[in-house]
Amino acid sequence: MLSEVLKHIEQRDRFLLTSHARPDGDAIGSALACCQILRSMGKRADVVLRDGVPRIYRPLPMADSVVQTDRVNGEYEAAIILECDSIQRTRLEGLEDRFLISIDHHQSGRPFAHVNWIDPNAVATAELVYRLARKAGVKISPEIATCLYTAVLTDTGSFMFEGTNEHTFALARELVLAGADPVRCARSVYFAHSTAKMRLLGAAMSNLQREGPLVWISVTYEQMEKIQAKDEDCEGLVNYALAIQDVQVAIFFREMSDGRYRVSLRSKGEVDVTTVAERFGGGGHHCASGCSLDGPLQAAVEVVLDPLRRLLP
Ligand code: 5GP
Repeated sequence: MLSEVLKHIEQRDRFLLTSHARPDGDAIGSALACCQILRSMGKRADVVLRDGVPRIYRPLPMADSVVQTDRVNGEYEAAIILECDSIQRTRLEGLEDRFLISIDHHQSGRPFAHVNWIDPNAVATAELVYRLARKAGVKISPEIATCLYTAVLTDTGSFMFEGTNEHTFALARELVLAGADPVRCARSVYFAHSTAKMRLLGAAMSNLQREGPLVWISVTYEQMEKIQAKDEDCEGLVNYALAIQDVQVAIFFREMSDGRYRVSLRSKGEVDVTTVAERFGGGGHHCASGCSLDGPLQAAVEVVLDPLRRLLP
């Protein structure tokens, strides 16, 4: 499938690169790296996203060139959708009639594009982008390496999530040799949070509830407003709850302005949380998935806990 993707890239000149709304490190890092790879191949490429680049990813090379919009305009010959399992999750209009190439590593990934390269064995979509560069004969510059390394770092939960293995470290080594600075990348991602995010963490943790191996935390829209937290400040909060000994699954419920809830699920490995997210129209991976549910909070909690109780011993 890599050859097929490369063939379609070689046949065209102008590309749009995008990913899912509320982008995470793999979405941003993969899109920025892929854009630079295409430009190295002599192509014209733009990264277009529905939501802005979260503050911790703003130091990444080319992050300031990302176009933020809700509608794609322009004479692109193809759109490459990275780390995203549908047109809908980009939340961009104007993609429907374009030639689409999907590059994704989600377990819940479904073929929706004209060309679909989905490899759930890759630890991050960035790993696929790296393979694409190698196959195309593009030199991995320090800038490309920095974007890819940050994507791998964040999508593996700092090399801690299930699926991290010797290949992950081999990839990280290649990227560091190519010029990614692991200390600077980690500093940008883990030591550059907003004060609001830390306050939000405190609010979420003070609502922590536990039922044996299940733990859940939540924040209301009112709390988000009071703390002046942004959507992006919620990324990763659920991992703090998963850190508790003997907890197998952690869930984070965030109330949105319309009263619905964004749900983030994390597992230490015993339970496949994609099966739960997919049941409610979401998706993700064995150990990390998400979906949206109707409120109120107690109803959303019961809806998610019910299948999880049955999956856990
Ligand atoms: P998070 O909890 O950080 O928002 O997402 C965890 C994982 O699940 C990520 O890989 C993300 O792409 C995926 N995910 C989260 N929400 C959704 C959703 O609504 N639909 C799908 N298909 N995947 C989701």
